[in-house]
Amino acid sequence: MREAAEPEAIGGESACLLPLVCAECGALAEQRPPTVCWRCGAVVDRD
Ligand SMILES: [Zn+2]
Repeated sequence: MREAAEPEAIGGESACLLPLVCAECGALAEQRPPTVCWRCGAVVDRD
């Protein structure tokens, strides 16, 4: 996971990653929402 290069993104708090999960395919977004899923192209945003 190249996100490891971003200490702020990976802080050991898994709950913070939940908003990054694509609702369509379950992939983990590479950027903070709002963004577009790298796998299926769906919009990933905090609900
Ligand atoms: Zn997706």
